Amino acid sequence: MNMDAILAEARGIQPWIVDIRRTLHRHPELQYEEVVTSKLVQDVLGELGIPFEAGIAETGVLASIGEGDLCVALRADMDALPIHEEAEVDFRSEVDGKMHACGHDCHTAMLLGAAKLLKQHETNLPGTIKLLFQPAEEGGAGGKRMREAGVLANPDVQRIFGLHVWPLADSGHITSRTGTFLAASSTLQITVHGVGGHAAMPHLAIDPVVAAAKIVTELQTVISRELDPLDAGVISVTMLRGGDAHNVIPSETTLGGTVRALTVERLLMLHDRIREIAQLTAQAHRCEAEVTFPGNAYPPTVNDAECWQLAQRIGRELLGDAQVSESPPIMGGEDFAFYTEEVPGCFVGLGMRNPAIGTEYAVHHPKFKMDEDTLPIGTALHVGFALRSLEELA
Ligand SMILES: [Zn+2]
Ligand SMILES: [Zn+2]
Repeated sequence: MNMDAILAEARGIQPWIVDIRRTLHRHPELQYEEVVTSKLVQDVLGELGIPFEAGIAETGVLASIGEGDLCVALRADMDALPIHEEAEVDFRSEVDGKMHACGHDCHTAMLLGAAKLLKQHETNLPGTIKLLFQPAEEGGAGGKRMREAGVLANPDVQRIFGLHVWPLADSGHITSRTGTFLAASSTLQITVHGVGGHAAMPHLAIDPVVAAAKIVTELQTVISRELDPLDAGVISVTMLRGGDAHNVIPSETTLGGTVRALTVERLLMLHDRIREIAQLTAQAHRCEAEVTFPGNAYPPTVNDAECWQLAQRIGRELLGDAQVSESPPIMGGEDFAFYTEEVPGCFVGLGMRNPAIGTEYAVHHPKFKMDEDTLPIGTALHVGFALRSLEELA
């Protein structure tokens, strides 16, 4: 089947895809709370006559089309973010403080579009296509829990593909790379313990505010002085909390943030140095620092060379040579990484930047907006990834 025909079919169901996307957009749900979202996915799969299993990793859904041991998986994430939407669209989030600002509503809708088209071609499939609708990408490691629940087995997935809407690239453009595409990441939490007291008598207190300020500054030298300048790492302190009054030295301050690197080894090296610098800096100021990296660390997202080559061929056929490009590694993290730790795969950025309609805001921005004309492109890409992979593997 040629890609033009697939794209024409996907464009033919654009209103259907857009409608699903907008319904999800109005009802954003945070990690592991995607109950309504999961129900919508199950209802649509049911209407399409596609068998599925629900309740995986809380709200995840695993659907399958075709049969046999040859198996390719396509993945979409379903969770939203704790952001209050400021985008001017008439299908704005109806839940205060929650928003689909990372486009996971689009990912889910595009994959349901692919489900609809693939189901129509089921009789000719030389194998099985698994569709993974996963919860909790935004920090909850839903991908890891889906993997642990066995979604990559029975039949064994030989290749997996995922798409992410990509405001760094123009609409109708795809980008990715061989090898490490996205970073390993973890959170960072530091509590600095001192002794509180009257702000007018600092000599009778042990000030954790000054110690915390020194820690923030000192941590920056790990990246600038200890990391190979040609290597990549990030330490961003994004939260600084302590004290409630102008005239009181608090007994404690807390810092929070994120740590990123392109390999797990480098991430662990950064953890070690953050721990040492925070503890010793605190000690130099008579305080004590407790350093933790809470939550789920994500490994780097590493793309398989053959899978990215296949994605590029499909992209060129669908969109033209000029619309496919090699990306540098990006320091964002993705729990798609948990799948590609186990099976070859490729995570692809789907460009949707179109300043004419205001879709140039970064993901996680309260004004993030989607160029919905790119949704059928995502659907066609998914269909292409699955069909061509099965043909190649057969
Ligand atoms: Zn995100
Ligand atoms: Zn995302």
